[in-house]
Order: sequence, then C-alpha cells, then structure tokens
Amino acid sequence: MFLSVSIQINHTSNMSISTTPFTANNRSYSPPAQPIAVICIDGCADEYISESIAQGYMPRLEAMLKKGYRGMVRGALPSFTNVNNSAIVTGAPPAVTGICGNFFLNPETNEEVMMNSPEFRRCDTLLNAAADAGRKVAFITAKEKLRTVLGDGIVERGGIVFSTEKVTEAEKETHGVDNAEDIIGKPQPEIYSGDASVYVLEAGAALVEQGKADFLYLSLTDYMQHKFGPWDQESLEFYKQLDDQIGRLLDAGCIVAATADHGMNAKNTDAGEPQVIYVQTLLHEKFGAEGIHVICPITDPYVVHHGALGSLVMVHLEDPSRAPELIDFLMRQEGITEAHDREMAALKLELAPDRIGDITVLSGRDYVVGKTAADHDLSVLKGGLRSHGGRYEEMVPLLLSEPLNNEYKLIANADPRNFDVFAFACNGAS
Ligand SMILES: [Zn+2]
Repeated sequence: MFLSVSIQINHTSNMSISTTPFTANNRSYSPPAQPIAVICIDGCADEYISESIAQGYMPRLEAMLKKGYRGMVRGALPSFTNVNNSAIVTGAPPAVTGICGNFFLNPETNEEVMMNSPEFRRCDTLLNAAADAGRKVAFITAKEKLRTVLGDGIVERGGIVFSTEKVTEAEKETHGVDNAEDIIGKPQPEIYSGDASVYVLEAGAALVEQGKADFLYLSLTDYMQHKFGPWDQESLEFYKQLDDQIGRLLDAGCIVAATADHGMNAKNTDAGEPQVIYVQTLLHEKFGAEGIHVICPITDPYVVHHGALGSLVMVHLEDPSRAPELIDFLMRQEGITEAHDREMAALKLELAPDRIGDITVLSGRDYVVGKTAADHDLSVLKGGLRSHGGRYEEMVPLLLSEPLNNEYKLIANADPRNFDVFAFACNGAS
C-alpha cells in the first residue's frame, strides 16, 4: 500500500540550511543556503542531452540551461562507473582514490578482486565532510554496489543512503531512513530498467520536498544508454522522465548540477556485430601463454548489458621487462589506440600504479577489448553492443542550473573535470 504523499515545499526552510564551508581532499566548498542536488547520469554522452532537448523531450532542462551553464568536462579513466563515481564523491582522480576499475588483480594475493567495499578507497568522501559541516546529506544510487563502496560514514553523521536495488532493505540504523518506499510514494522498480534511474531522482526530489535532505548525490545506472542510442524513442522517453524529476528538484529550490561518469558509444562492425579484440588471445598467439594474463576491469555483477566488454583492459606480466615488446605489438593492431606501461599509465591516466596492470590497453571509439572469446557471452548482446571504458567515452556534459561566476568561467574554459561537479555546484554560481 502506497499512500500518495502530499507535496509540501517548505519555502522557509532555507534558514536552516548550513552554509558552513568545508574542505575535503584539499579542496574547499562553500555551499549557499539552498539545497544542492548533484546528479550523475550514468553513461550520458552529450548526444543524449542534445537529442532529447532538440526533440522537445527535456523542456525543464532546456530552460534550466538557458539560465545556467552547459559545457563539457573530462572524466577519469578508465571511463567506468565505480572509477568516476569514486572521483565525483571525493573530488579527486583515481590516483588519489585508488579506485581504478570495478575489478583489479590484488598484487598481495594475486587474486582478481571486486572493489566493492570502502576499504579499497584511499580517501574520504566530500559527502561526509558536508555532513560534518551540518548539511543533511543523502546519497541515492540505482545500484547497491555504489552504496556499499561510497556510502560509508553518511548514516553515522545523520544522513541517508540507499539504492533502488535494495530500497526495501532501508532501515533507520543502517540507511538513515525507514520506509523509503513510502517517502518516495512508489514501490521498488526492476533494477534492469530505466525506471531504476528515474526512481533515484524521485527519491531525491521527495527527500528535498519533505525537508529530509539538502545536499544530495543522485547516481543513476546506464542500463538504458547501453541498450539505446540517443535518437531511439525508448531513450527519448527515458530522458523525458529524468526531465520531469529535474523539474521537481528545481521547483523544490535546488541548485541542480548534473554530469556523467562516462559517455557511451556503439562498438560494432558495419554488419552490426560487436567489434571485439581479444587481447589475451592475441598476446598468447604471438608471445605464448606463459606469464601473460589479461583482466577486464569493467567486470561486475551487472554485466548483462555489455558482456563485460569495454574499451580498456589491463595486461599483467610475470616478467614486466617484456612490456615494451608487447606494447609495440599492441599499438600496431587496428582498433588499439593506446598501450601504456605501468608508470606511464599512472602518469598520463592519473591511476594508482599498484592498482593497475603492467600494460593498460585502450581501444578506439568503435572497438572493445576483451580477454578470450570464452570469457565473454556475446549472446546477451542482441542488437549490437554499446559500451565505454576508453578515451572516447571520457568527455561528458556538465550542466548547472546557475550561471557561472568569473572564477568558474575560467575553470570551465581550462580543463574542468566531471569530479569538479560538487565544486561547480557549491562555489560556481554567480
Ligand atoms: Zn556501463
């Protein structure tokens, strides 16, 4: 039974919103006395925004951007979800967070490990710093994995953290709130759906409207973007639903800032088949199987929509001195665009050297890289593959409901990052 929640917007509540400045990871944030809602639209290449606005499916966002700011920012590599969400909630690159993939080969145990708990993260989140400064923090995600990796410390500080995926498990003690479904006024949707993302924004809007949160991070899932291109009707209708909720957040008085963790590109041959380079197979054929091991750091339990295929893999070598020879070979392959040894990858891709392979391999806009054919189930990819992970999914939109002040105009014209989004929201408004 879900009672329809009558919406009461407390226009006087801004008096109680903390404006205490705070710092996190050597960055300063001075939030104004307004609710702040930062949205990570998972997999939102800029074309999704352009196409949805052009076809009239995002009127609220279109109006918001006329008044505010729309630009492009560079994400963190690998252009994966965990990597970039970790960067966004800390305001720091993967070299600082230590989160360089969904998956890594632990050098201490030599086992492939899923980075699904906060102990892998090497710095605290700005969400906790905001809560310490008196903000009512809410971190709502579509996928449970992000709640567990990035949500630590918030509930202890009086904030709220839950995921669409496990919304029914939310309890005051562990999630900061009981009866989350009642607050949202809707039952839990299917996780493999666009609704899983819409629900995150509905939750965020409900929490602001009901005065339960004033500093929000709302992180969606890229299920729809993996399945549909920007021009597909399903995508346009999905973005329309996002637009309705962005409108709700604006109506509730929020500063709204949105970015993406990564873009999304079709990765198919002209015949529409997934265009895959199996890097381990390729290297074993050329150099022998001994001491060469490829891991796919995009791997996670939600792989149904991309077959664990992305545009970046790591090669681990028993003998790292072989790296230059392998890099030279890899760089000659069509579809491979970059291959860096460990030191250069750490330097140029801002990665933690102990969390990556001896070689980091990136593929082109229309290619993915995998391990061996047997390691990837292409049968799940009916209708072709759309994925991410490499350089060509690095640039993403940054959308802000406010016009930029002079300081942030300069930043926007330099090399702004998606993990600057909280700084833009807190400090960037003119
Ligand atoms: Zn994805």
